[in-house]
Amino acid sequence: MELWGARLYGDPCRDCGFAWSLTPRGAVELVTALPARYAGLTEGRRGDERLPGLAWNVTAYVSHVTDNLRNWAERLAAARLSDARHVPGYDQDLLARVRRYDEVPLAGALWSLRWAVAAWAESVSAALDTGIVLEHVARGGQSAEDVALNNAHDAAHHAWDIARILAYTDERVIG
Ligand SMILES: [Zn+2]
Repeated sequence: MELWGARLYGDPCRDCGFAWSLTPRGAVELVTALPARYAGLTEGRRGDERLPGLAWNVTAYVSHVTDNLRNWAERLAAARLSDARHVPGYDQDLLARVRRYDEVPLAGALWSLRWAVAAWAESVSAALDTGIVLEHVARGGQSAEDVALNNAHDAAHHAWDIARILAYTDERVIG
């Protein structure tokens, strides 16, 4: 069984400090605030900034969060609308390559994030109301609550990644 959530990252997350005691509705609020949070973090930036040791640049992290939200929103919607609960894994690195995340213009990535967040909030809220539980091929049962928390953590974790990439970039400019 694949490790996920607090058992994988620690509670709070040992890197970004995300607390898994957040409620599912709190997770929806966190994700709803993402477009403004990410726009603020990246204001005045190019998006191609990098940190040695991290595979992705700033824009790639934005695009990953967007696609992750879309993916899970679609899965929860499918379960709610057609009772299709089986969920396969997906290869986020392969998706990054075929979508060429590293070359997506930052403004386009932020635009996509806004729409993905709106669709995700609708789908997750409806899934929470109806008590959806997905069957993930590697993780087992994933309730709407689990998905809300996992997706909120992914977004918070990568906001932390973006912040440290940009802090590193600033140090190099000043130094
Ligand atoms: Zn984290």
